[in-house]
Amino acid sequence: MTNGLARAWRLRTMLPPEWRSRARHVVDACGRPIGSLHAASVTGLVGLTVDDGPDPHWTLPLLDVLAAHGCRATFFVLAYRALRYPDILRATVAAGHEIALHGWDHTRLTALPPSEVLARSRHAKAVVEDLSGAPVRWFRPPFGAQSLRSYLAVRRLGMEVVVWSATPRDWEDGEPDEVAGRVLADVRDGDILLTHDGVEVPAGDSAPTFDRAAMFGALLDGLASRGLRATALENLVRSGPARYTAWFRP
Ligand SMILES: [Zn+2]
Repeated sequence: MTNGLARAWRLRTMLPPEWRSRARHVVDACGRPIGSLHAASVTGLVGLTVDDGPDPHWTLPLLDVLAAHGCRATFFVLAYRALRYPDILRATVAAGHEIALHGWDHTRLTALPPSEVLARSRHAKAVVEDLSGAPVRWFRPPFGAQSLRSYLAVRRLGMEVVVWSATPRDWEDGEPDEVAGRVLADVRDGDILLTHDGVEVPAGDSAPTFDRAAMFGALLDGLASRGLRATALENLVRSGPARYTAWFRP
């Protein structure tokens, strides 16, 4: 399965962009039963998703930035970090944000047997629901790595898979304005934005050091100047039809 997925992904990367987009339209049309949420058909809103926390350094300052802009977000947390920083998780809930699951830790699910994906995700969901006091509706696979089997394991636990349609690539360093500008250049109505409060980098790599609170401030200002407001996923899909894509990558 994983080898087949890797081959298909290599093939996809060899296609010119317009072919990729055409292939995606065809696959998405028949792929709803195996689709991952990646955008919504709404005007004036984008879904803001924040991954890899709770983070002891950046989550609380980010909550202040969101409050100052009157915006909500969906936080895809790692369960082991939620256990380590339960007060930050509860502060996020108390500020009115939505809590979702990003996994027990940041292990690539395509590297695990399906039985382990199921067991780890079930445990992680229970831990996060217990700590946050709210049911978890959404799941995002670490690195966006997903096989059909890992997808089905997550769906079996009653969660919907969420990927993204735009990102400032904030796992790479840069000045806060420049990082925000990476996504503001071509953000569209209904996009789901992937961002991070506590970015988990592979062992040996160095984490970016830019001021994340300043980056989120620039991002929310830039969205507002384009007539867009950031919101949590539950509000995004309540405001217009959800859009799904067949998203499988190693
Ligand atoms: Zn992540």
